[in-house]
Amino acid sequence: MVKEQQNSHQINNIVILGGGTAGWLSANYLNKALNNSQPGSCQITLIESSDIGTVGVGEATIPTILDTFKFLGISEADWMTKCNATFKLAIKFVNWSGIPGKEIFWHPFGQWYMTNKTNVPISQHWLKRKSQGNSEPFDYSCFEAVHLCDAKKAPKFNQDPEYAWRVEYAYHLDAGLLATYLKEKGKSEGVKHVVDNVLDVSLDEKGFISHLITEKHGLLAGDFFIDCSGFSGRLINQALEEPFISFTDSLWCDSAIALPIEYDSEDPYNENHGGINPYTSATALSSGWTWNTPLIGRTGNGYVYSSNFISPAEAEAEFKQHLGEKSQHLQPRHIKMRVGRTRNAWVKNCVSIGLASGFIEPLESTGIYLIEASLEHLIHNFPNRLFHQSVIDNYNLIMQEQYEEIRDFIVMHYCLSKREDTPFWRANKSEPVIPDSLKAKLELWQNMLPNNPQKISWLFPDYSYICILAGLDALPQTSLPILDYQDKYATEQAFLNIKNKAAQLKNNLPSHIDYLKTLAESNSENANQNLLVEA
Ligand code: FAD
Repeated sequence: MVKEQQNSHQINNIVILGGGTAGWLSANYLNKALNNSQPGSCQITLIESSDIGTVGVGEATIPTILDTFKFLGISEADWMTKCNATFKLAIKFVNWSGIPGKEIFWHPFGQWYMTNKTNVPISQHWLKRKSQGNSEPFDYSCFEAVHLCDAKKAPKFNQDPEYAWRVEYAYHLDAGLLATYLKEKGKSEGVKHVVDNVLDVSLDEKGFISHLITEKHGLLAGDFFIDCSGFSGRLINQALEEPFISFTDSLWCDSAIALPIEYDSEDPYNENHGGINPYTSATALSSGWTWNTPLIGRTGNGYVYSSNFISPAEAEAEFKQHLGEKSQHLQPRHIKMRVGRTRNAWVKNCVSIGLASGFIEPLESTGIYLIEASLEHLIHNFPNRLFHQSVIDNYNLIMQEQYEEIRDFIVMHYCLSKREDTPFWRANKSEPVIPDSLKAKLELWQNMLPNNPQKISWLFPDYSYICILAGLDALPQTSLPILDYQDKYATEQAFLNIKNKAAQLKNNLPSHIDYLKTLAESNSENANQNLLVEA
């Protein structure tokens, strides 16, 4: 009886508006979660416009995406080769600190070493060694990944299982190709695809969405709507009138210019010009920063800047000068960014995911992560048609915390910089607006490095924060007093182990390019074999 009642409220018709990365990831994820064990339990329909394009950027990821792809049952070799993907082991920050001699620092992915049973992370010992005169930088002493980045190595062997790693990694990928890949997968597994414009939205007497009014397909009804319509927030902000909370008081960059640059046509792995870096670069310029995401066949490049300090034309000229000769005749794309979050990501029977839900500048590649996190938490809080408000509130609080954590982390990159060479950096130094939540953390970190190894924050571990504090020279004066009671020999051994492991990996792992070439060859052989079997 109870089961029957539950089933009578079950959601069995979901409509997703938007066919960008958010829309197609959502379609595949929900399809897997809802229809895998009992096929046909829930109809999923995705509607996208052929007139309104996708944002088409979003090419650097973080390691959470491995679990997402594994969950979706996607072969790593297959999707990587079809999306021109490469490995990403770290972000290299260039010209952020404003301190001569400290132009570069890294934020790598990686295991985190604890030195002994008291579970004090090795970072704390690094600070103590530094105060005793050891000049080895934090990133090079505590992570193997940085050494592999310099040597342009892959993070694994070709024989290793899919998604397994020797050093933790994520990817760079072609966003357009990924959307196509996910579209084909979703459609082949039963997602209904409608290409049309949503002209209007009908609400019922309780203010819930009852159906979308389309240009050519009439009314599209659903129990539950996922708004993946991008910056326009067509359902959540426009139809349901949920306000958007801007973060631009503390994050000033509100515009971007995207300009992909192809390698020479006969050189898809860029071998004649230094190969393919297994890392993203983020280089600070006069009024923001540029990204460089290396793919097979081309690099993705962009300038994220504040329009209060530089005009689009000036930004384009500066960006092209930074990129060099090859960029001069190319036409870049200018993008206005809506930075912040929709106050409640979930309202009534509509959840916003992707840019409709919120966006924080891509300095730490968190856009696709936020889509993954939204989907994971949506599944944990999946509703029935009663849409209990407490469940909705629970989800909204989690997403609010995620956005605010990422905002604070990004603000750190700016407010701790010592740069003063342009109006943007001078204003950033003299008038930063630091959220209270970050102020409290920074105060603590003046006296001790982040040291909560047991507390899992939503996304960034302690070491991520320390990379920025160390890279921008914002370290406490003293190390943890508890370290004075600990075994110095064991600590030195831990640092030596990292160095030895880095050297061993550097000697043995294949180069990034060799790994990618072998992957492409073996994937095309497999595809040929499959064709033979089918024939
Ligand atoms: P969009 O791609 O804008 O898609 C919106 C969809 O909605 C389209 O299909 C459109 O047709 C449809 N639509 C809208 N209105 C209607 C309507 N009325 N009727 C029918 N269809 C409609 N993320 C990362 O993880 N890493 C990065 O390095 C990164 N870099 C970025 C750089 C920039 C400059 C920007 C702006 C974003 C970046 N992101 C990055 C974020 C990432 O691009 C997005 O999270 C991701 O692309 C998701 O976009 P979306 O699907 O939400 O929206």
